[in-house]
Amino acid sequence: MYNVNKVRADFPILSREVYGKPLVYLDNGATTQKPRQVVEAMVDEYYNVNANVHRGVHFLSQQATDLHEASREVVRAFIHARSTNEIIFTRGTTESINLLAFSLGEAMVKEGDEVVVSAMEHHSNIVPWQMMCERKGALLRVIPMTDEGELQLDALEELLTERTRIVCCTQVSNVLGTVNPVKEIVRMAHDKGIPVLVDGAQSVPHMQVDMQDLDCDFFAFSGHKVYGPTGVGVLYGKEAWLEKLPPYQGGGEMIKNVTFQKTTYNALPYKFEAGTPDYVATHALAKALNYVNDLGMENIEAHERELTLYALEQLQRIEGMRIIGRARQHDAVISFLVGDIHHLDMGTLLDRLGIAVRTGHHCAEPLMRRLGIEGTVRASFSLYNTKEEVDVLVDGIERIRKMF
Ligand code: PMP
Repeated sequence: MYNVNKVRADFPILSREVYGKPLVYLDNGATTQKPRQVVEAMVDEYYNVNANVHRGVHFLSQQATDLHEASREVVRAFIHARSTNEIIFTRGTTESINLLAFSLGEAMVKEGDEVVVSAMEHHSNIVPWQMMCERKGALLRVIPMTDEGELQLDALEELLTERTRIVCCTQVSNVLGTVNPVKEIVRMAHDKGIPVLVDGAQSVPHMQVDMQDLDCDFFAFSGHKVYGPTGVGVLYGKEAWLEKLPPYQGGGEMIKNVTFQKTTYNALPYKFEAGTPDYVATHALAKALNYVNDLGMENIEAHERELTLYALEQLQRIEGMRIIGRARQHDAVISFLVGDIHHLDMGTLLDRLGIAVRTGHHCAEPLMRRLGIEGTVRASFSLYNTKEEVDVLVDGIERIRKMF
């Protein structure tokens, strides 16, 4: 049985108060809180193990390297990749996508080529591609979506041409909560020999992801959204693809031999990991993924599904409530507006009641434009949230609505 109160005890921050009120943390889409197991692993490593990885023969360096490389294996198993050569540690989703946009752009994008993104992408999965397109004289094309917030795959079929170099799509929208049919998108793109990047920033914390089942060519996610520390993330890439792409940054670790005339590059995954990695964070990320494994992703999914359905049901009872994002496949993210109350006013007043939600465009300005709104209030749930917290949110919104 999933015991949410026992789970909550692992997260010290959840028992603090803000403005003299118990904290209700519903901003998990932005970042999740960290269990003791993660924070303690970081403290322990700095106190007892710390040494730079890969380059030392001494005891501590070996031990730190072992922890760092063992973490790579934990990540591999977590996303069911074939090999640790396919797991590149980065600073997060944003850096993962910038890395890919640069390297793929250098390797295979020419003037007149096209990159396909979806209408509901986070800026992190738009701007790096746009920058690359500008450099290369390529064009960005957009998969449209319905008013409910579902991608229009019939339109995608037409966007996929011999000029398309890559399709980039989020698995779960950070605004609408839509779960996109990425497996189907991968199949459609592969039929035409086009690779696919899946942005997993909002899916990895909430559902089992399986690289071999999805069959995507690239996949990016952030540690801090899955109970791990900030400053670490992952780019997964199929080995055959990563072998073909040039490095993103130059420096230590990514080289085999250097002379002033020429540098040869290291093997995978190190070719893409210039400089000292955040080895304390990678170790802590592994602790976070193990924490999720111990709870069981299917239990987490069931808990969050129940919570989201409950929240949708309760929120819809509020007069003037408009839920933004009505996709049939919906994850633990709910965006909304109430009457003509500005999202910022709603967020600020909820904050005074101890409720942390996010307001604004959620780094998805093109999506806001598509929806014809400036922003939303977003509540995003996690493995430690409770129905009581949903009730506090609903009561809070009601109070604010009556004030207006
Ligand atoms: N993609 C999506 C769908 C996201 O929700 C986010 C974070 N809000 C990002 C990318 C960027 O993640 P990070 O800031 O950790 O790089």
